[in-house]
Amino acid sequence: MTHDSIRSISLSTLTLPLEAPISDAKVFTGRQKPMTEVVFLIAEITTEQGHEGLGFSYSKRAGGPAQYAHAREVAQEAIGEDPNDIAKLYTKLLWAGASVGRSGVATQALAAIDIALWDLKAKRANLPLAKLLGAHRDSVRTYNTSGGFLHASIEEIQERATRSLAEGIGGIKIKVGLPDSREDLRRVAAVREHLGADVPFMVDANQQWDRATALRMGRALGEFDLVWIEEPLDAYDAAGHADLTRRLDTPIATGEMLASVNEHVQLIEQRACDIIQPDAPRVGGITNFLRLATLADHAGLDLAPHFAMEIHLHLAAAYSREPWVEHFDWLNPLFNERLETRDGRMLIPNRPGLGVTLSDQARAWTTDSVTLQ
Ligand SMILES: [Mg+2]
Repeated sequence: MTHDSIRSISLSTLTLPLEAPISDAKVFTGRQKPMTEVVFLIAEITTEQGHEGLGFSYSKRAGGPAQYAHAREVAQEAIGEDPNDIAKLYTKLLWAGASVGRSGVATQALAAIDIALWDLKAKRANLPLAKLLGAHRDSVRTYNTSGGFLHASIEEIQERATRSLAEGIGGIKIKVGLPDSREDLRRVAAVREHLGADVPFMVDANQQWDRATALRMGRALGEFDLVWIEEPLDAYDAAGHADLTRRLDTPIATGEMLASVNEHVQLIEQRACDIIQPDAPRVGGITNFLRLATLADHAGLDLAPHFAMEIHLHLAAAYSREPWVEHFDWLNPLFNERLETRDGRMLIPNRPGLGVTLSDQARAWTTDSVTLQ
């Protein structure tokens, strides 16, 4: 008997506090405040046959209450449906709330449910999600970002990089985009010197350069043998990114801020980057991530998903080209399990589904919840 139906969907929202306020280039240009917390939308699905799925979406600085409210409004449409028919369910929930658009908050609200359905399907098959999707590898190259924010001194960044490498993380990324570009270059030079020539090294400008600055800085950064320059320009400047991609030897990476498959199609069709950086919760879940990843693969792009390594490890493992996963330990308090890193790679956990369960701490940080059935 393969037919099953969704008995209940529990939605909850929780606030994860960060240890210290976080600053990237968007803070230095005055567009955003330092980040102190991340808000999560959690979806937990149960079925008549007793299967369970866990998914999440998230927002930084604003949008958490909106994601939760939208999910509460549309999730009822999934009750009684077969949890295996994920594409059908996604479409049904999408159209239930399509008046407010088919991107951004509306689809990010569905992402938690979509991810929970994929988790459920993989658990039902008793397979890690990567295996259910069809993995190319059982581990993925991983790099650290959280040690390299702009509020950290060069010495702190160097110390954290050493620690990350000792923990088996393979690459180091730091933020750039300070008001004084010479200070950016000093920091990059000091970190490259500290790492030596062999450690993969990336920089991330978080969209804060104009086209002229991005080209000038891209050329100046050429000597540091970077794996990529991330978000040199506004996330929606596909033409500008395409121009940089053609003119610079250092690969260009972008895509984390985009909130739909359609927006990623602009990047792919315009050859606006060498490495695409989709974020499954931001584009509406795993169903949408797989759609755009297929297009990116056909276009010959490399993949380095943004944030949420607990989800993206599986999706990266199923990409045909050797990808990178971003190592962020911020979400560790939410889950009982830890992902293993060794020899520069993150290992696919040998547990069914995403391979994570919610911790007591996550329950304690929950501020609101509802169960639909
Ligand atoms: Mg980034």
